[in-house]
Parts: sequence; structure tokens; C-alpha cells
Amino acid sequence: SGRWARAVAIVKEFEEKCGTPEAKLVQIADAMTVEMHAGLASEGGSKLKMLISYVDNLPTGEEEGVFYALDLGGTNFRVLRVQLGGKEGGIVHQEFAEASIPPALMCGTSDALFDYIAEKLANFVAEEEQIFHQPPGKQRELGFTFSFPVMQTSINSGTLMRWTKGFSIDDTVGQDVVVELTKALKRKGVEMRVAALVNDTIGTLAGGRYTHNDVSIAVILGTGTNAAYVERAQAIPKWHGPLPKSGEMVINMEWGNFRSSHLPITDYDHALDVESLNPGEQIFEKLTSGMYLGEIVRRVLLRMAEEAFFFGDEVPPKLKIPFILRTPEMSAMHQDTSSDLRVVDEKLKNILEISNTSLKKRRVVVELCNIAATRGARLAAAGIFGVLKKTGRDIPKEGGEKTVIAMDGGLYEHYTEYRKCLENTVGELIGDESSSAITFEHSNDGSGIGAALLAASHSLYL
Ligand code: ADP
Ligand code: MG
Repeated sequence: SGRWARAVAIVKEFEEKCGTPEAKLVQIADAMTVEMHAGLASEGGSKLKMLISYVDNLPTGEEEGVFYALDLGGTNFRVLRVQLGGKEGGIVHQEFAEASIPPALMCGTSDALFDYIAEKLANFVAEEEQIFHQPPGKQRELGFTFSFPVMQTSINSGTLMRWTKGFSIDDTVGQDVVVELTKALKRKGVEMRVAALVNDTIGTLAGGRYTHNDVSIAVILGTGTNAAYVERAQAIPKWHGPLPKSGEMVINMEWGNFRSSHLPITDYDHALDVESLNPGEQIFEKLTSGMYLGEIVRRVLLRMAEEAFFFGDEVPPKLKIPFILRTPEMSAMHQDTSSDLRVVDEKLKNILEISNTSLKKRRVVVELCNIAATRGARLAAAGIFGVLKKTGRDIPKEGGEKTVIAMDGGLYEHYTEYRKCLENTVGELIGDESSSAITFEHSNDGSGIGAALLAASHSLYL
């Protein structure tokens, strides 16, 4: 019928506009390397902030002692206690506690937020067993993973540029978050020194390096997306400090904010961006990350309902609610292996209150999920290819240099189709010859352990 043909035409058009042929991905990767150069050349030189992390040495495996970590980057935060065994000792002991941040504290005052965190940490420290006690005269040391854009001023200081991910606390912006935390620790009577301030990409890179010597890139694919990598200090014109002994510096790309005229952007993406909390910002993130993929699919389905009466004469009211279709639900539908697409049926019913869909229509829904996820995964792969190119790791080296990419985040961890597509696409872009030198490693909770490791390597008591 005419309705079906119209619906199919909408899907076809979406698919075409989302197209990511290899040649396009190469253009995107090249644009990424151009922006990387520009961001390294001068502060504000690019959409890519290319933030200097002050991490010029990654863990060696010789770190030793008891260290703490605090991971704040979303609605949950974690505190960790890690005992490092020194050379070949590995992680001898590890325990953690998790708590959620009450929504009221996400929009309250800086003191209220940091007091809450310090109190949880105080409780955790209070349970510390005798054997982990520090010797007299030695303070406990902590690595602080704080995953918001921070202009770092040293390994353990940095000012908050802006909040993201639903946080909005005006009096923290422009403040040194380590000073804020340290003051709160003092108020709560916790004896602890913040030895390192990092974000989740830097933590994941450090945690990844501890287990795999060839880790030099870290990528987060969760609610948002970001990447960090090891750069030659000589290749950072905007760095005016002394050259580190290692000759290296870890860079936090803040790649979620990448944009390029080569990116395949549809009318749906444009509308999503305009209606978002940060229009014009985080364009790469809005095409690739978990916060947005389900929402993109919802927007296409809504158009099909409105213009092709895909779900009958009425537009299902729930389908009009922004962000109602979340990425975990989308991935469950996409990966539905039942012959009658039972999961798709269930999700449409439970989330969108759409019932009695035909198998044919459920197949179209799966196809939409596939189109959006494939584009996202292939773009993320192009970003990785760009970093590999920038660091000369895209071509095989004599002596067989290996590159391990430490990956983390809920999207990468749970959305298998996305992950497979990403990894295959990197292989496609790199070519058979080089692709055996590139491997992916899921760094489960590497970011918290990574922060503890960096606290160890920046300890006062070395
Ligand atoms: P954050 O990025 O907030 O630190 P996570 O790394 O845990 O947290 O990522 C959470 C995100 O991962 C969710 O917002 C969601 O988009 C995505 N995600 C979680 N579970 C799944 C899943 N089963 N399928 C697809 N995406 C998922
Ligand atoms: Mg996280």
C-alpha cells in the first residue's frame, strides 16, 4: 500500500544519509588528525580541546602501597582501596563502595556535594582494617577521577570549566576541584592527600597500561564518549613547561566535541542537537554515544508514524516523548534473536504502548536500530583510526610494535553488535597487514584503579 511504500522510503532515506562508506571514514579520520594538530598547537585552536593531563608517566607495575581512589563522573560514584604489591606483586587487595548522588545535590551547592562525597569516603576509611593503616607520619593518598571538563594546572589541581551530564552547581565552576574536595575532607576529619586528579579516559589508560604494557590509547563509550592517548611532548606546541623526562604526555582529547563537514548528519540529528541542552556542542558524541542512539531511532519512528501512519491512524502519544527510548532498550531490540522478534514486540508495548505490530514492521524497527548503531560504531572507529594515524600506529612497524586500545563504558560493554562493528571497522580501515598489531582490551573499572595507580606514582613518599 501507499503507507508501506512511504514508510520504506523514510527508512531508505535515513539509511542513505547515515552512510559511512570507507572513503568517508578516511576523510573523517583525516579531519580528526587535523583537529588534533590544531588543538595541540594552541589553547582554543580547535573544537578538540586536547587537554594536557600532566600525566607524563604511566604505571610501570612497580607501584607499591595502599592507595585510595574516588570516581565521580555520573550519577554514581565509587570509592576504592587498593593495595599494590610492587614489582610483579600486582594488585594484592582491592575493595570498593558505591553510592548514588542524590539528584538534589547535583543542582545544589559545591559544599553540599563535596561534603556528601567526603562523608562517604570517611565511612569507607573508618572500616579500614589495621593491616592497611599508614605508618605514623604518613598521610593516606588518593587518586580523584573527576569526569567533567577540567583545565588541569598540575597533576593534582585543575579548575572546572563546566558541568555536564545533568550536574549544575554554579559555585563550583572556575574552582579548583581538588581544593574543594580537600576542604570537605578536612571538614569531615578525613586525613587524606589528593595526589592525582584525572578523568575517566586518563584513568582507563593508566589502569589499562598496568595490565598491558602496549596500551597507549583509551576510549570511553558510555553515556558520552571521549578518548585519551600518549603523545610525544615535542608534538605539543602549546605546552610551555619543562619537557618531561619520559618525553611523553597523556592528552585528554575531549573528542565528543569533534565536528566535521564530512560527518553524516541527518535532519533527525540536526533537530536533536537544536533541542538539546548544549546545541552546537558535542556533535560527535551525539552521533555515537549511549545517551543519544535510542533517541535518534525514536525520532525516525515518530516521523514514520506521522507521515506514513506506520503504527496506524493515530500517532502513539508515547512516541512523542523525547528520550523515552533508551539505548539499552534499543540494543535489546536490535539483538533480538527470537524468530518472531518477541523482544521488539515487548519493548514497543512496554515503552511506547504500541501493540499488535506485524513481524514485518518489527523487522523494520530492528533495521532502524541497526542503521543508527552501525553509523555510530563506524564513526567511533574512524575516530580511533584518526588517533592511530596521528601517532603513526596505523602502519606496521619493524620489530612488530603492538597497540592495545583500552576500552570502557556501558555502551561498549553491553551493546555487542556495536562493539563488533566498531572493532571490525577499525580492522577494515587499518588493513589486514596492520590490523594484527591492534587489539582492544575491555578495561573493566580500569579508571578507578588507574587513579589509584597514578596516586601511587605521584606519591609524596616515593
Ligand atoms: P557513564 O558513561 O555515565 O559513566 P557507563 O559507562 O556505565 O556510565 O555507561 C552507561 C551508558 O551505557 C548508558 O547511558 C547507556 O547509554 C549505555 N548502556 C548501558 N547498558 C547498555 C546496554 N545493555 N545496551 C546498550 N547501551 C547500554
Ligand atoms: Mg563512567
